[in-house]
Amino acid sequence: MKVFINPGHDIKYDSGAVHYDADGNVDLRECDVAAKIGTAVQKYLEAAGCECRLLQSDNLYYDSNYDDRPVAVCDDANDWPADVFVSIHCNAANGQARGTEVECYSRMSNGGNLAQCIQDQIVSALGTVDRGVKEMPGLIVLRHTDMPAVLVETAFIDNDDDAALLTDKWDNFARAIARGVTDYECSLQ
Ligand SMILES: [Zn+2]
Repeated sequence: MKVFINPGHDIKYDSGAVHYDADGNVDLRECDVAAKIGTAVQKYLEAAGCECRLLQSDNLYYDSNYDDRPVAVCDDANDWPADVFVSIHCNAANGQARGTEVECYSRMSNGGNLAQCIQDQIVSALGTVDRGVKEMPGLIVLRHTDMPAVLVETAFIDNDDDAALLTDKWDNFARAIARGVTDYECSLQ
């Protein structure tokens, strides 16, 4: 199976959400967490026999202002073409909200099944609050990709407890996401 991995946001141009330490300094950036987890997901999936392609970019579908981001993530996945698309993010809200959710274009679809496989693996491996699978057809990476696609909101980076999990257990998130993908692959056979 060909798996396209899209760590969210952009190391250079868009940190995404952040966590602040007690002095008000940023001590964790979503783009860095996503990159670390995404790179590890690639490693685990390649070990499981998948072919992977990874791209983290401000240009999701010609929505970037930066000339050094000419390749759009969605087109790169469509042109390859990927069998599944996995975008990796951290959630953020009010500092209190916690937990994991996986977003898909439509629940009653292969993308919905892939989302549920990944959701189940993360919640059981990390013990995060189960916020469930959600339909978010407006998201760029779900709307403009041709294959089953999901956006994984691993945990809330602005919540202290979830941020600690993302810092200490990022590799466990990666393993869980990879297992979710291989669970999905098995469910097709
Ligand atoms: Zn994000």
